[in-house]
Amino acid sequence: MSTEATPLIENVESFLSEPRPLLIDGQWKTARSGATFSTLDPATGEVFATVADGGKPEIDAAVASARRAFDGGWAQSAGAYRADLLNRLADLIETHAEEFAQLDSLDCGKPISLARLADVPTAIGHFRYFSGWATKLSGETIPVSAPGFLNYTVREPIGVVGLIIPWNFPVMFAAVKLAPALCSGCTVVLKPAEQTPLSALRLGELIQEAGFPDGVVNIVPGSGEIAGAALAAHPGVDKIAFTGSTEVGRKIIAAAAGNLKKVSLELGGKAPNIILPDADLDTVADAAADAIFFNQGEACCAGTRLLVHESCRRELVEEVIKRAAAIKVGPGLLPDTQMGPLVSEEQLARVQGYLESGLSQGARIVTGGGRPAGLEGGYFLEPTVFEDVEASMAIAQEEIFGPVLTVLGWSDLDDLVRKANDTVYGLAAGIWTKDLSRAHNLAARMKAGTVWINCWNAFDPGSPWGGYRQSGWGRETGRLGAEQYTEVKSVWVNLN
Ligand code: ADP
Repeated sequence: MSTEATPLIENVESFLSEPRPLLIDGQWKTARSGATFSTLDPATGEVFATVADGGKPEIDAAVASARRAFDGGWAQSAGAYRADLLNRLADLIETHAEEFAQLDSLDCGKPISLARLADVPTAIGHFRYFSGWATKLSGETIPVSAPGFLNYTVREPIGVVGLIIPWNFPVMFAAVKLAPALCSGCTVVLKPAEQTPLSALRLGELIQEAGFPDGVVNIVPGSGEIAGAALAAHPGVDKIAFTGSTEVGRKIIAAAAGNLKKVSLELGGKAPNIILPDADLDTVADAAADAIFFNQGEACCAGTRLLVHESCRRELVEEVIKRAAAIKVGPGLLPDTQMGPLVSEEQLARVQGYLESGLSQGARIVTGGGRPAGLEGGYFLEPTVFEDVEASMAIAQEEIFGPVLTVLGWSDLDDLVRKANDTVYGLAAGIWTKDLSRAHNLAARMKAGTVWINCWNAFDPGSPWGGYRQSGWGRETGRLGAEQYTEVKSVWVNLN
């Protein structure tokens, strides 16, 4: 195993060497109050960057700037022009890909290999994909019954959009929200998570370099309670697109009620990973471990509940335990690290609280549960597997957002479906079997926005992503993703 951390490239070193300002109206500014906040390396707990702390005045200024840019030409601009800018931005991110991988690995702790393989290419892919929709968001002609009337629809950009994103895939979620908003002609205020503001700010520099007009994209880092809440409540904002916890999603809805702004939400999950007895156990063991331990389990689509048929339960759990124990846990910047630290002390405490809750309710930890030796300075936790789990326990019901797998057995299909759907969430589900008609049958019975059959974490910017039930409102990505940043206008013409 390599013990040499990936050296920071020069652009990253210089980016981190000074307090990072926020972006309003094409200008990089400090907060009016001069306030800043620190961002910590979760592998050590040490401060490694300082960022301007946006508050209500900055949100007000950013919203005003986004409004001017919207009214000043962006909303009416040619789709081909916006497509060009989005493609140029994608090219720039590609040129600077390693900077984004390093910034996100440092900021949220994720393995740099994952950031290089998934986060950054996915961000680029979203800008390229949605550049295509900039010229294709069209209306319809409706065959109305009234004689002599023409009725057609047009799609118009919704207006000024507040984008509030979480810390687990920082540059990726910035792209997932910015790309459809910008392609449809909206202007935005982006509030990155306070734990991971850096890649969004670097992205802001490239947005300027790509040639986006001033004010089209404003970026205001700050706390959720102050900057996030001010954005969600702002009367000048027409829509909020949020990714994060279900708990904060509820606050966003309440804050948005003032001016009835549109809201789209991508919230928590508690995905069942369903194993039928005919599945290839070796493949499934790899996939089950990856589905939960990928990104330290800090993913809304993590395969948190292993729903395995009783006939192969013992054998599969033994294999998953072997894989969990073999995962290389370490700082994200070590090239061989497979699982990094949790994002913060608070998140570590939260996950450890779930370990205590599981144990106190009678579940049994069969691997992990502790802090890995030699890594005490950071927020590391061993990959953990719980057995003897009852479906009603908190660890089987609530989103843990950490590397903790709960195992539940089942013996008949109705029992399986009941257990699979037995949470308030409905984001994703996985089914492993060689019997494809059974897989399709089960897919139809899953209350989930995405069902993966013999795969996990399959994504594409063209495929809709979003949740049933308390996992969200609306769909991101794909045509639906772009359309949710538009209003539909119905125009009637009397031809008589
Ligand atoms: P946590 O960090 O506790 O896990 P989330 O993951 O839901 O919370 O946070 C996602 C995003 O929501 C972050 O950008 C955060 O700053 C923001 N946020 C937190 N609280 C609020 C709030 N009350 N209003 C608006 N945004 C918020």
